[in-house]
Amino acid sequence: MQTLYGKPASEGIAKGRLKVIKHSRKQISGGTALSAENEIVRYQFALQMADTELENLKKRALETVGEAEASIFEIHRMMMHDDDFTDRVADFIRVKAMCAENAVIQAGEDLAKIFAGMDTEYMRARAADIRSVAARLADILDGGNKLSYELDEPSVIASDDLTPAETICLDKSRVLGVVTELGSDSSHTAILARSMGIPAVVGVKEISQEFDGRECIIDGSGGTVTVDPDEGALERFREMTVRHAEKQRKAETMRGIRLTGRNGKRICICANAAEIGDIDSALRYDAEGIGLFRSEFLFMKYGRSPTEEEQFEAYRCAAEKMEGRECVIRTLDAGADKKIPYLNLDGEHNPALGMRAVRLCLKNPELLHTQFRALYRAAAYGKVSAMIPMVVLPAEIDQVRAIAAKAERELIAANISTGKLKLGMMIETPASAVCADIFAGMVDFFSIGTNDLIQYTLAADRENREVSYLADPLPESVKRMIKMTCDAAVSAGIPVSVCGELGGDERYIGFLLDCGVTKLSVSPPNVLRVRNAAAEHLKK
Ligand code: PEP
Ligand code: MG
Repeated sequence: MQTLYGKPASEGIAKGRLKVIKHSRKQISGGTALSAENEIVRYQFALQMADTELENLKKRALETVGEAEASIFEIHRMMMHDDDFTDRVADFIRVKAMCAENAVIQAGEDLAKIFAGMDTEYMRARAADIRSVAARLADILDGGNKLSYELDEPSVIASDDLTPAETICLDKSRVLGVVTELGSDSSHTAILARSMGIPAVVGVKEISQEFDGRECIIDGSGGTVTVDPDEGALERFREMTVRHAEKQRKAETMRGIRLTGRNGKRICICANAAEIGDIDSALRYDAEGIGLFRSEFLFMKYGRSPTEEEQFEAYRCAAEKMEGRECVIRTLDAGADKKIPYLNLDGEHNPALGMRAVRLCLKNPELLHTQFRALYRAAAYGKVSAMIPMVVLPAEIDQVRAIAAKAERELIAANISTGKLKLGMMIETPASAVCADIFAGMVDFFSIGTNDLIQYTLAADRENREVSYLADPLPESVKRMIKMTCDAAVSAGIPVSVCGELGGDERYIGFLLDCGVTKLSVSPPNVLRVRNAAAEHLKK
């Protein structure tokens, strides 16, 4: 028996034979072009073919999984037509006299290296996307076949990497699980596996051909793959299967159920979103609202600050889709791990303690002003609230309020429709938790960002696996921060929610509800499970 460790990427467990598929990544063959113009024409033809393929894949994804997944193929199309890629390909053909196949592979590799060196996991995960784009073009150019999985029996697929297109084409009835060497839990493959309900473990270093055909147990929640399981492991698997099936069954019964806390107040289970696609997912999982919309991903997507109009469209779309359910949109939380290149945040010795989130917005008030204009306008189309991240001083709230008020006044003066906008703040620093009683009189609601609250309370970098043990089990210090925040909110009569990962951790849901939390906001596929755990606690 051998246990391989990786990152949990999609919940669930399965047992079956491993089918090891190593991509023969296209190699640069060293071939040269007969004529640059001829190669450019071939390349342009391949672009058109790839456009059609991606369009078909998008349609298929829309029919089988949803908008969020379909948008991946749109992203591939954008990457394929991006100047960074196309100019490189043309240069390789014209200047280095490469044939079109080699030029696309080389351009893809160059860009993949740039993505792989970026600061956020999200951007690093894009390396796989650009490689996939290049491989598609190269396949078309040399008339080769796409990777297809001919599975004789239901199997656990183990591969160096899977492209989103390969993942979406998996026959769910034959794929028991997915294990990849590359990728992170925010890679598109992981996102797709989650929405397809296939257990997945990513970042497993030791996948090798010798595992092919051997039996394994994949645990997508624990992040392990056990090859040649012994009797003890098989017994644990049987127990886990029963527990997992029971959990799933119970979670499904929570659709449409609404909870009331012991004090008679509604308890809402909402979803976190990073892009519009997540709103569809939230609706699919019966989320009662969006508890945290991370607007910074909009700022990353455009490669420049999105205009008022672009932001307005995104927030309005979210508000309309949620049909009257609250959408809490967090103002730009850039900095630290969420680097946005054009905001020039480099060069800080300690970025997690530096110019990030509300500090950055107050230093560049036009960013916040534009964002509030878009938010007030979107609030005319649904229930929209704004939330400020990383607050440490009451003065920060006053300054944000002044900018928001100016934005609202201007819109009213210009006869542009606006709606009511509640203003809340995140409690994610010890400074805000300790002074929660002061802050409670200044805002409409609190939302506890446990990811950062834990990091700053324990002085333990949330990105550093070496110090993650400090937070598990949750220490008394963090519990006190949470309790203090909730007590202040309850006495001031404002609602308090949790939008950090702790809200999905069944060990602490009871504690949070007992403290007075009335909303838990978690990733969309976790909504029903968390509602079930909350219901179980409230029954006690
Ligand atoms: C948090 O800190 O808990 C939170 C929800 O914000 P983020 O993870 O985006 O920093
Ligand atoms: Mg945070």
